[in-house]
Amino acid sequence: MVDFHTHSTFSDGVKTPTELAGQAAAAGIAAIALTDHDTTDGTAEFLKACSEHRGLTGVAGVEFSAESDRGSLHMLGLGVDASNPALCEMLTRIRDSRDERNRRILSALNSLGYSLTWEEVEETAGGDVMGRPHFAQAMIRRGWAESISEVFERFLSRGAPAYVSRFHPSPEEVIALVKGAGGVVSVAHPVSWSMDEEFLREKFKTFAALGLDAIECYHPRVGNKARAMLLRLAGELGLLVSAGSDYHGIESDDRLGAPDKPPEGLAEPLLARMSPYGISRGN
Ligand code: AMP
Ligand code: FE
Ligand code: FE
Ligand code: ZN
Repeated sequence: MVDFHTHSTFSDGVKTPTELAGQAAAAGIAAIALTDHDTTDGTAEFLKACSEHRGLTGVAGVEFSAESDRGSLHMLGLGVDASNPALCEMLTRIRDSRDERNRRILSALNSLGYSLTWEEVEETAGGDVMGRPHFAQAMIRRGWAESISEVFERFLSRGAPAYVSRFHPSPEEVIALVKGAGGVVSVAHPVSWSMDEEFLREKFKTFAALGLDAIECYHPRVGNKARAMLLRLAGELGLLVSAGSDYHGIESDDRLGAPDKPPEGLAEPLLARMSPYGISRGN
């Protein structure tokens, strides 16, 4: 079993990198990537923890939210050298823009009559990348909503009253950065971007020419029909196939290990392209 998409306390997950590694080993996972949103700060701890479990390969990754002409597209950098200066600089820039946006979300909620404090949101965030899901959790704690998606719909989604935009890199920038840091670039859960096969074919063709390595075809939000389409596109364009759970440890159905039984040989060609600084192998 493999899992190339997970989140820890360094972004919006609830398990520490060390806990994730332990859970992966216990679940019999052979290779697992930590892909926190906009940070690689948890990856050193994660690689070390993975190296302490026999047979467990750890991968240092990161998830970007890129902004395209058709909305937000998530991209994974897998097996990156986390000390790469250009990568660090971009991640700092994104997090700074996030901080400023978060302050503005808080004042928007306050003006709407929800007296949330910075400390409360920080408490739900724990680590260093605070985001909208943490605002949602804090709103739920106060009893102002019942679910994360409800908070998004009523307050935080684009067009809702407490929505505030922030800086996002373009997909092209993300590809260049991740390749520069020695990593594999994969498009995460592409169906959240578009379900239009023709559109995806054209975009992926362009991205492939720039260095895109893989498409995440196995993901909880990718259904059977969509997966068939994505596998077809990967085959046509000569792209590798990636697989992940997007584990955050929050929802009760969150489970480590990519869903829908990805083929056994999926991991090796991906691992073979990653920076040696972005991988650890337990022995
Ligand atoms: P941020 O990066 O702080 O802007 O928050 C984006 C994150 O919020 C995404 O990565 C998702 O995990 C989550 N998210 C976005 N839209 C929704 C939604 N409608 N319902 C629940 N979670 C969402
Ligand atoms: Fe997330
Ligand atoms: Fe995502
Ligand atoms: Zn994710």
